[in-house]
Amino acid sequence: MMATTHGFVGLAIAAVVAVIAPEFAVAAAIGGIAGGIFPDLDVLAEHRRTLHFPGYYTMVALPALGLAYVVTDVVTVSIATFLVAAAVHSLSDALGGTPSAVPWESDLDHAVYLHAADRWLPAKRWVRYDGAPEDFVAGVVFAVPALVIFDGAIRYLAVTGIVVSLVYTAFRRPIGHAVAGIK
Ligand SMILES: [Zn+2]
Repeated sequence: MMATTHGFVGLAIAAVVAVIAPEFAVAAAIGGIAGGIFPDLDVLAEHRRTLHFPGYYTMVALPALGLAYVVTDVVTVSIATFLVAAAVHSLSDALGGTPSAVPWESDLDHAVYLHAADRWLPAKRWVRYDGAPEDFVAGVVFAVPALVIFDGAIRYLAVTGIVVSLVYTAFRRPIGHAVAGIK
């Protein structure tokens, strides 16, 4: 999935926090967006492996949630939201396509690396590839809670993210061929 789609999922998680504890809405939004996008920074390294940890993020997210429940402040809430969003990102990449520049031409079959088991998880391709039309639709659906719950800068950021997703989706294939050509 696109980094923006993962960012919207992080924001949807933050929207749940905002409903439960409105005073921590902004802390959760920052943690959710950052955690939703962070794993994809490894596109500059070994994509879907260097910063994607489906198992380890999940393992540390659970105690972080417990800590945020017991000691509730902006730091614990933003860290817990970050880790939950990063865990959901890493796990959900297994539902998408392969980490190829041109996944529609690739014979790769793996999606995301599961460090704990020292192997790749297979690509389920519910979303065929990042920037596929269904990826854009999923992103918009996950953006809805944030658009309803948040206002001001967060809502503006969400709308900007939808525009970025739309442009990327429109040009995904030429971008992929250009990147594959460079490699
Ligand atoms: Zn990813």
